[in-house]
Amino acid sequence: MEIIRGKGVCGGIAIGRLRFFEQRHRNITQWNVADEAAECGRFAEAHGRAIGQVALLQERALREVGEKEAAVFEIHRMMLEDEDYLDSIRNIIMTQSVNAEYAVSLTREEFARMFSEMDDPYMQGRAADVRDISDRLLDCLEGRETDLILGHEPVVVAAKDLTPSETIQLDKSRVLAFATCGGSGNSHTAILARTMGLPAVVGVGDVLTEAMDAKMVIVDGFSGAVYVEPDDATVAAMRKRQDEEKARQAMLDRYKGKPNRTLDGKEILVYANIGSVSELELVKRYDAGGIGLFRSEFLFLDSADFPGEEVQFAAYRKVAKEMGGKRSIIRTLDIGADKRIGYFNLDHEENPALGLRGLRLCLERSDVFKTQLRALLRASAFGNIAVMFPMVASLWEVREAMGLVKSVQDELRHEGRDFNGDMEIGVMIETPAAAIISDQLAREVDFLSIGTNDLTQYTLAVDRQNSSLDRYCDPHHDAVLRLVELIVNNAHNNEAWVGVCGELAGDLDVTKTLLRMGVDELSVSPPKVLELRKTICELSLA
Ligand code: PEP
Ligand code: MG
Repeated sequence: MEIIRGKGVCGGIAIGRLRFFEQRHRNITQWNVADEAAECGRFAEAHGRAIGQVALLQERALREVGEKEAAVFEIHRMMLEDEDYLDSIRNIIMTQSVNAEYAVSLTREEFARMFSEMDDPYMQGRAADVRDISDRLLDCLEGRETDLILGHEPVVVAAKDLTPSETIQLDKSRVLAFATCGGSGNSHTAILARTMGLPAVVGVGDVLTEAMDAKMVIVDGFSGAVYVEPDDATVAAMRKRQDEEKARQAMLDRYKGKPNRTLDGKEILVYANIGSVSELELVKRYDAGGIGLFRSEFLFLDSADFPGEEVQFAAYRKVAKEMGGKRSIIRTLDIGADKRIGYFNLDHEENPALGLRGLRLCLERSDVFKTQLRALLRASAFGNIAVMFPMVASLWEVREAMGLVKSVQDELRHEGRDFNGDMEIGVMIETPAAAIISDQLAREVDFLSIGTNDLTQYTLAVDRQNSSLDRYCDPHHDAVLRLVELIVNNAHNNEAWVGVCGELAGDLDVTKTLLRMGVDELSVSPPKVLELRKTICELSLA
């Protein structure tokens, strides 16, 4: 037995045969062509077929996994239509009198190198996309099928890394788990695994090789271990874990449809936190009562440029429609601090956590903010959308933001567009300043949502990203809990309701404390919803 370790990005245990996807080794031969124009014509035909395939994949991704995955194929289409890329191929054919395959393979490497040398990690990631579209063009030129065939038996899919095209083409009913040499928590494989609830381990390094193809493996997505040819004792132990996990999930499933009510009758809302439209499926699967935090910045992080009004509108409308009237709180852009985006061209900051982030950035870049507000308000006509502002410290910030909401409402009214004039608006309480003036803030808005991750960081002056400071970063600290209680009281005394959407909301050790304080809503990651409901149902506050 060999044990290889990586990062578990989706919990669960899978046992099965490994199927290693080898990136195609191509042997591109170069030959001279007599008629360059005819060769360009052959390339144009293949190019047309590639565009058609990408359009089909985009449709399939939209149907099967959601808009975020589908957006990748929009990028592929744009890359396939990029004039610089196309000119490079045509120029090589025309000036060197060579075959189109050779011209594509040279351009593939040149463009991939260019992307991988860029400073921005997002742009570096696009090198894989250039290779992906170029391979598709080569397949079209060579008349080869691009689809990946898995066979009939479900398998553990392993690869150096999976490109978006490869991932989306997999027949999901035949995949038990994922294991990849490269990749991060935000790689396409990880995102898809979480969406489908499949165990996944990424970043195991080069020890995962093609030589392991067809071997029995166990993927432990909880610990990040992959057992290759496991011994009997390991198989037995893992089967037991699987059974325990199944039994635990079945037991929790019995809480679906039940109220979140304590033994002595106190009821509370339990919502879910998500970062993309594709995670709506999880919100439904785990029976969350609504969405307490949609981190809209992931739409921006997953994009090569500012997502326009229509792209955002489509995403928010999908949330509104799919949630069927259940409240869905979308947080406006929370960029800055640890979430950097190249195309914002933000200045270097010595202390980014105390810098231009969240609502501050939106007020400085009101063009970007107003585009998002327009998309959100337009989507509010299709369901129960609520909006909240992150990283607030002062009353004037909220007033200025509300002024922009009002001006966008006037614009939309003037254009004759529908929106919900009573859309709920809230403020996240993430700074000690906001907590202390939460009475004033509550009078401006409909609700407050306590972001305990940042509230802990700023109250205790501990960098939340620094894992060596873990014991100092204590959300149970009296200072944090006293602020939470103050915020709840200030909200209720000023006709606002109040929720918690930081990690503390799912901390079962404080559920009783939060309920006793009178918190109205708790928002947690989707798989946590039923566990929290069970805890609430077994509590008595008396
Ligand atoms: C928080 O700060 O508690 C929060 C929910 O926001 P984020 O974790 O996205 O900063
Ligand atoms: Mg926060």
